[in-house]
Amino acid sequence: MMRFTSGPTSLAVLATYQCTAACKECCFECSPKSTQRLSLPEIYQTIDQTSAFPSLRLVVFSGGECFLLGKELVSAVGYAHNIRN
Ligand code: SF4
Repeated sequence: MMRFTSGPTSLAVLATYQCTAACKECCFECSPKSTQRLSLPEIYQTIDQTSAFPSLRLVVFSGGECFLLGKELVSAVGYAHNIRN
């Protein structure tokens, strides 16, 4: 029997529009020159808001190149793990 969820199952956090590449096809126009990014408190706040959706099972970090956040990305992943488990 197929089960249907009644809400979102994933959250995509576009943590930064900065990227090591600058692809012509990029839908967000990301590039090394872009400095737009979410602060760590903004990422935490976004993750906190998912408590309204018990159906949510997955938090995805993307951008841009989210690995440019360095240790802050590690902190954000840990926060998402702890709040959802
Ligand atoms: S986010 Fe992806 S598509 Fe956009 S510039 Fe970076 S690598 Fe290219």
